[in-house]
Amino acid sequence: MRRKLVAGNWKMHGSLAENENLLNGILAGMGNVKAGVAVCVPFPYLAQVQAKLAGSAIAWGAQNLSQHAKGAYTGEVSAAMLKDFGCRYVIVGHSERRALYGESDELVADKYAVVQAAGLIPILCVGETLNEREECITEQVVGRQLDAVINKSGVASLANAVVAYEPVWAIGTGVTATPDQAQSVHAFIRGKVRGLDAAVADGLIIQYGGSVKASNAVELFGQPDIDGGLIGGAALNAEEFLAICRAG
Ligand code: PEP
Repeated sequence: MRRKLVAGNWKMHGSLAENENLLNGILAGMGNVKAGVAVCVPFPYLAQVQAKLAGSAIAWGAQNLSQHAKGAYTGEVSAAMLKDFGCRYVIVGHSERRALYGESDELVADKYAVVQAAGLIPILCVGETLNEREECITEQVVGRQLDAVINKSGVASLANAVVAYEPVWAIGTGVTATPDQAQSVHAFIRGKVRGLDAAVADGLIIQYGGSVKASNAVELFGQPDIDGGLIGGAALNAEEFLAICRAG
């Protein structure tokens, strides 16, 4: 039985004061949460979450990193630096990184590999755009995004990774995939991995992300292949985030 994992993606939001309130609120309500919980925060706040969440049931992580180990890469942050701050997770391949910063499948695969090499856990985002869904090539797109990682790091690497299925058309739009739509892609992902390694497929946490709210989380997380969620907007409100966590 896989444990569900609910991770908040704060994106480029927050301040020291806002984070303090948000974390206090989440910490206060963790008593009846059974799912694993994590928050992925902007780089400058890693020290804050490390200090605040140490010893708690909440893990933390980053939203991006460099594919390079070190060197003359001004403005970049390495996996080893994230490890220094006690991160457990790093989001790689978020659709905003792919669309706005031109991250290719190959670059995402490189980032996934350096996250694992540092002993951290990648949350690998995959998902199709609205056009791709309308062209009925969702599985082709998601399959290609997964293949880039499997070809570079091997299927066994997925034993130490989380996959987040995030249809691009559902992220930050208020339009959520129906439980059936999401389950169908999750089943495709697990089936693809099962074709290569059944044990890895059975243990793989596949999160859904895209306008998850307290009002739709129970039904989404109730699907057989949906193992929790990657939560954007709703992760910025402690009560809403906790309600989603309790659905896990
Ligand atoms: C996300 O940022 O990964 C996300 C799923 O955002 P939202 O929940 O706001 O759609």
